[in-house]
Amino acid sequence: MDIISQSDISKLERFIEDAQKIAITAHMRPDGDAVGSCAALFHCLGDMGKDAVIVLPDASPDYLGFITEAVGSRHLTDFESDGQGARDALAGCDLIFCLDYNAFHRTGKMEQALSGHHAVKILVDHHLNPARECFDLVFSETEVSSTAEYLYNILLMTSRYGHDAGKLPEQAATALMTGMTTDTNNFANSVFPSTLRMASSLLEAGVDRDFIISRLYNEYSEGRIRLMGELLSKRLEITPDGVAYMILDRKTIEKYGLKEGDTEGFVNIPLGIGRVKISCFFKEDEDRIRVSLRSKRGISANRCAALYFNGGGHEQAAGGRLAVPEDIGSIGEVAAYAEKVMHEFMVRQAE
Ligand code: 5GP
Ligand code: MN
Repeated sequence: MDIISQSDISKLERFIEDAQKIAITAHMRPDGDAVGSCAALFHCLGDMGKDAVIVLPDASPDYLGFITEAVGSRHLTDFESDGQGARDALAGCDLIFCLDYNAFHRTGKMEQALSGHHAVKILVDHHLNPARECFDLVFSETEVSSTAEYLYNILLMTSRYGHDAGKLPEQAATALMTGMTTDTNNFANSVFPSTLRMASSLLEAGVDRDFIISRLYNEYSEGRIRLMGELLSKRLEITPDGVAYMILDRKTIEKYGLKEGDTEGFVNIPLGIGRVKISCFFKEDEDRIRVSLRSKRGISANRCAALYFNGGGHEQAAGGRLAVPEDIGSIGEVAAYAEKVMHEFMVRQAE
């Protein structure tokens, strides 16, 4: 992680001080890092005496309820459940934090409301290629586990917290630990020295990690685990190039009664197989097929997502989508498309 400049911290503090009403936003289909970072910042702004609201493009998934409950429904809205309420919440703000995304198109339904907004906009993110020109202040760093870890370091540099994690509000510390934990897949990927320092300081500050872990990983629906069994035994395909892929259609999603977030982490499992170099997970949505990619070192999931799946992300973890019918006729055609483009991609990688 690069050194965060003191002058950027001063600008941040001034923007916060001058703001009357603050909105905190994150990317569409928010994950633990997005929601955790938003919640942490919310609690810290409250601690600074500031009035803030979290506005998301889509509802926060149920499994993060232990984070959103501490924010409270009065301070949390989303474009999916209450479009007008979310629009109104944004409209009244003069400062907007943009967390865990690099460009407005990553906010889906919220994109227009954000890009035309008059408010001061501050980015805090860990993805490649931030759209710097869209923001008044940019905190962007890819050598960090998560937005939560980066935000933690930014917060500790403010005069309010003075490099002391023990001064963070308890709920903020819990939310930061949660965001870092989910984005590292519980310390399996993207762990930097700074990540362990953060974890260590938050533990010292009294964060209950056992509680977080049990809420994140021991509260799944039975359907998730049974579907995982079916996918791995019957639907996992592995090509001679070392590409693993699984396709999940809507009928199966309904059969197992899955909710948003219930397939989180499936894409990682095939990477455990020695000959697999990249894993693709395709999930049928209303008018699109969502794509998740995970790769081993030396193979760029980010490049693959950009080349074939209208997406991007990080080197080893990326995602995108195939629009139906613009990019692909139906879910039934995904296997043939995947075989074709992924073979092409692996040949390119080898060149
Ligand atoms: P996931 O597979 O967990 O949905 O996403 C993995 C990573 O890829 C995340 O860091 C996310 O930001 C990125 N990502 C997922 N979908 C998209 C997309 O449609 N566009 C871009 N640019 N990045 C994506
Ligand atoms: Mn993230």
